[in-house]
Parts: sequence; structure tokens; C-alpha cells
Amino acid sequence: MTTFIYLAYLVAAVLFILGIKGLTKPRTAVRGNQLSAMGMFIAVVVTLFDQSILSYEWIIAGVLLGGTIGAVMATKIKVTDMPQMVALLNGFGGGASLAIAAASFLDPAAATNTVALISIGATIIIGSVTLSGSFVAFAKLQELISGNPIKVPGNKPLNVILLISALALAVAIVMDPTNTSLMYALVAVAVVLGVLLVVPIGGADMPVVIALLNSYSGIAAATTGFITGNTVLIVSGSLVGASGIILTQIMCKAMNRSLFNVLFGVMAEGGEKVDADEIYAGKVKSTSPDEIAMMLETAERVVIVPGYGLAMAQAQHAVRELANVLQSRGTDVKYAIHPVAGRMPGHMNVLLAEAEVPYDQLIEMDEINPQFEQTDVAIVIGANDVTNPMAREDKGSPIYGMPILNVDKARTVVVIKRSLSPGFAGLPNPLFAMDNSLMLFGDGKKGIVELTASLKEAD
Ligand code: NDP
Repeated sequence: MTTFIYLAYLVAAVLFILGIKGLTKPRTAVRGNQLSAMGMFIAVVVTLFDQSILSYEWIIAGVLLGGTIGAVMATKIKVTDMPQMVALLNGFGGGASLAIAAASFLDPAAATNTVALISIGATIIIGSVTLSGSFVAFAKLQELISGNPIKVPGNKPLNVILLISALALAVAIVMDPTNTSLMYALVAVAVVLGVLLVVPIGGADMPVVIALLNSYSGIAAATTGFITGNTVLIVSGSLVGASGIILTQIMCKAMNRSLFNVLFGVMAEGGEKVDADEIYAGKVKSTSPDEIAMMLETAERVVIVPGYGLAMAQAQHAVRELANVLQSRGTDVKYAIHPVAGRMPGHMNVLLAEAEVPYDQLIEMDEINPQFEQTDVAIVIGANDVTNPMAREDKGSPIYGMPILNVDKARTVVVIKRSLSPGFAGLPNPLFAMDNSLMLFGDGKKGIVELTASLKEAD
């Protein structure tokens, strides 16, 4: 039986790794997801046979209750609210690990050796920080509390004191496993630490924080595996921990933030206040669908640049239709994908995949940027920050250094959005006032539908 269980765990671990590999490319992502899910199914079923299960009734009740809540949440959630949902799920992951660690500590038969006790201490710290930190991140993104950095006097020294206290309490519970008040004190200290770590972080850095908390929830699961002696939990937790850290680094790079600064709440200073009127006054030119259609008739290369507004307008199918019309006329059409366009990693890939845009037309930022100079028309739909030239040129700007899509290098740039309102970073965008820019004001989907109709009429 034991050999069978270990073999099944090995199969599950291999499926997780193949699944993650599959997730690295849009074409193989669905299969990757299915492989990982299959691995998890095997792991769960085998664990139910492996462990000395006391009562299946509680497990079934938990699966039904949790499964129903999860299914309702997943079907109701809007794609644009996905970061909040991920934050919440990370918190639940940390909370589950914390619950197992606490239960094991309270059960004298469960935690008998030093490795288990050390793992309990580590799990309580990481699980509690993940739980409370994720809930604060959720509250910020859901606008239950202000998304701006919240200043707590003495925040940083307090964090250091709390961390040292937590480590000391973790050592104390290893030395004295019968003292339950030490455990409760450790939970309290770590929960407060989680709150204070996330509270000073501003909304713009939240994606990085969520990726990091995701990594923490994986590490907490891995340390829980040491408590219960479950190999597959150690493997899967380590995979989540490692991939979460890699995602955190990718997000940091894409937003030009250092992980240290995000973690320790060192915000990019606001720089001098930029006056939107000064940038836009008398320079913004608006256009019409007919005028753009005329330009597109002669264009050989067109690059479509989607952003958060595309998701808001649900314009992905309309955009695909426009691309089809252009391609049927022999125009080369590509989509430029910025890693943090939208509100979650891979947001634009998911939206465009929904409209069945061929993957080979989605071009990553580093590859598409050198191509803008040969682009006749760049059509920017609901993207703002990821095209803002201030990030390249204005050293005083809070987004200075963030890599952007160089759409302004195209011969003509058409920007479709409802107004001159700023995007997520709250900054004006000099792109809208450039000589080669034209604004089509209105809802993204409506603009694209009208543009496509004008183009068809011209045929
Ligand atoms: P932005 O948030 O910079 O801008 C979106 C633009 O969409 C707005 O300026 C808005 O202008 C426009 N818009 C809104 N609704 C519509 C609509 N119905 N039709 C047309 N336009 C619309 O988006 P970007 O994608 O350029 O940049 C993403 C930003 O979000 C970055 O700052 C990034 O750091 C941040 N972020 C990214 C996350 C990620 O993981 N991807 C997570 C969290 C934040 P108007 O109101 O005038 O229409």
C-alpha cells in the first residue's frame, strides 16, 4: 500500500510540473491546467486513503460547502475583479495551513518530534501573515478601505519588532510544546504583522503583493506537509512558492519596482505634479470612425494595443472582427501585449483568447516594440499607462522606468477611450497630445464596431 501511495504521489508531482510547463504558453495553457487538476485529484484521493481518516462525514460536508462557495464565487466574479478573488483565495490557503498547524499543536499525539514542532512554528507565522495580509489586499482592491498607502507611525521598526517576537515565540513553542498560550500569542503577533506589512502598500503595487502572498501561501502549504508528513503537499506547496516568487519578479520588472521597495513600503515619490491641462491644451485632435477607416484602407501594417478599457468595454469580439476585415484586405495585423495591461497578469491574453484571436498574432512587448516604427496605424483600445511616454522620458514621473509599448513611434496612433481621464496610475498621458495621435472618444466596443462598419462600407 505504501509503495502504491508514493507512486501515486510521484505521478501527481509530475503532473503538477507538466501542468506548470503547459501554463507558460497560451496554446498549451488549457491542457496544463487540466494536467495540474488531474494531479491534484490524484493527490487528494490518495491522501484520503493514506491518512488515518477519523470521519468521512466531515470531509464530505467540507467539500460540499467549500466547493459550492467556490463554484458560486468563480461563476459570479467579473474578470476585472479577479485580483481581489485571487487575494481572497491566497488568504484562505494561508488560513487552512494555519488551522492545520494549530490543530496539530493542540493535539499532543500529532506534534511529537522537533521537525514537526519547527514546522508548526513556521506554518503559523507564514499562514497567519498570508491570511491577514491577503485580507487587507482584498479590502484595498475591493475599495472597502483606501487603496492609497496607509501610513502607520513607526510602521517599519514595529514590523521588525513583531518579526523578532514571532521568531522568539516560534522557538518557545518548540521548547515548550505544552504551553498553548504561546501558540495563541504567536498567531496574534503574526496576524498583526501581516496587516502592517500590507497596509502601507499602495494600490499600484498590489499586483506584486498578491503574487508574493500567493508564494507565501505555497510555502505555508509546504511547511504543513512537514507537519502531517505528506510528501505531495510539500511538493505542491514548494511549486506554488517558487512559481509565486518568479511571478513576483516578473511583475516587479514589468512595473519597474524593486521587490525590496514593495516589501518595505518604499513608494516611488510622486515627483512634481503634472498639469494635465498644460499637456493637452489645444493639442488633442479628435477623429471619427470614417476618418480612421480611410487611413486603414491604405495601411499595410496595423498593431492593435489592448488595455484595461478593452476589458471594461468587452470589445474583444469586436476587435477580432475588425482584424478579420483588415486581414481579408491583405493588411498585416498584430496585437501588442504588455505584461501588466489590464488588471491581472495575462489579462489581455485571456480576453483575446476568449475571442479566439490566433496566439501567433499576440506579440509580447520586447518583440513588438522595435516594430512600431514600421507600423502604419497603431490602434490603442482602452490602454493608457502601458503606452505613457512619460515612463520613458520623465525622470520625475512616478512611472519613470516602467517599460511601455512604444506606440508613439508608429506613423499614426489612434486612441479609443471615452475621455482624457487617466488610467490606473492617475497620470496624464502626453501620447494623446502628440502630432501623430488621433483620439476617437467613446466606448471601446462602440468605436470598434463603427470603425469596422465604415471599413466594410468603403469596400
Ligand atoms: P489603464 O488603467 O492605464 O487605463 C485604462 C483606460 O481605459 C482608462 O484611461 C479609461 O479611460 C479607459 N476605459 C475605461 N473604460 C473604457 C471603455 N468602456 N471603453 C474605452 N476605454 C475605456 O490601463 P492599462 O491597461 O494601460 O494599464 C494597466 C494599469 O493597471 C497599469 O498601471 C498597471 O500597473 C495596473 N495594474 C495592472 C495589473 C495587472 O496585473 N495587469 C493589476 C493591477 C494594476 P476613459 O475613462 O477615458 O475611457
